[in-house]
Amino acid sequence: MSRFLHEKFAALEAYTPGEQPRDRQYIKLNTNESPYPPAPEVVEALNQTDVAELRLYSDPEGKDLKEKLAWYYGCKAENVFLSNGSDDILNFAFLAFGAQGAVFPRPSYSFYPVFAQLHGVPYREVPLKEDFSLDVDKLRGTGCFTVLANPNAPTGLAVGLDAIEKIVVSNPDQVVLVDEAYVDFGGESAAELIHRYPNLLVVMTYSKSRSMAGARLGFALGDRELIEDLEKLKFSTNPYNVNRLTLKLGAAAVDAAPYFVENAKRIMATRERIGVALQGLGFTFPDSKANFLFIRREGLPGETLYRKLKERGVLIRHFSDPALADYNRVTIGTEEEMGAFLKEVRAILEEEGLV
Ligand SMILES: *Cc1c(COP(=O)(O)O)cnc(C)c1O
Repeated sequence: MSRFLHEKFAALEAYTPGEQPRDRQYIKLNTNESPYPPAPEVVEALNQTDVAELRLYSDPEGKDLKEKLAWYYGCKAENVFLSNGSDDILNFAFLAFGAQGAVFPRPSYSFYPVFAQLHGVPYREVPLKEDFSLDVDKLRGTGCFTVLANPNAPTGLAVGLDAIEKIVVSNPDQVVLVDEAYVDFGGESAAELIHRYPNLLVVMTYSKSRSMAGARLGFALGDRELIEDLEKLKFSTNPYNVNRLTLKLGAAAVDAAPYFVENAKRIMATRERIGVALQGLGFTFPDSKANFLFIRREGLPGETLYRKLKERGVLIRHFSDPALADYNRVTIGTEEEMGAFLKEVRAILEEEGLV
């Protein structure tokens, strides 16, 4: 830290993204990317792009893409906000709506407390139950900005729309943000509720189900006035936060929706198969509605499994939070990748004398 940094950031602990090592080729099951490439329509749109266009700024309104997404989700373009990945939206939302503080469950996405600290938003974490399920009543009437990942990360558990609605209704004078990064893998989207509740903001991303993590595209759906608030902050920060190429490829991806829906189905089918195999090896995990499993094995510390798999060329995600020490989050890859993962897991269990 230099002596020039504002002292209010001295104690800020930045978010730690999943590792992206380059020392060798890994089977990468640690950052919940899709194992499948973007849609052929997206590749086609890229191939047809004239690179000379890059001399021009992108459309700061993102009008074409907003209209496509509005069509897809059954709302108007004025209900859509576009951003450079959905983390960007979370950042704006904590900045915009955190005046009375923030509440979110724990464990959940470990970026939420970082945004709260960054913006000086006091926050309270609501502990999940022993089995990681959400005590919905604890998120009702919080009297402040309320954030909920549904399905949750890193547990994979989802709550139904009835629960979301209860939370939203109980807090009419505060924004409730539902982070639906994983909703396409078996969750229930709250998108339709934005027409009824002006305090609901639904946040989605192209990074997971749409295979475009590297393009950096996220969007939020909500009441026109909520979206205007976010636009105000975006236009006060970086009006061109979504680049030209990404706007174009994002629109092509909406046209290719059946492709990503099909991929999500494949991933869900792989998730079920790998789950059965893992249970056979003594692993337990919450019922996942996401593209990952949050696994633990009696007698095998999470850190050991993580380290031994890495030595064998398979990356999974281990968390520094001591409460999660027994666990690892494993992204669902292709059938072949998961076959290779299982083979190494079996070998490690044998090595440890556990089978
Ligand atoms: C991956 C993820 C995001 C955001 O990803 P972006 O790549 O920034 O769109 C947001 N929330 C959760 C819970 C995630 O897992």
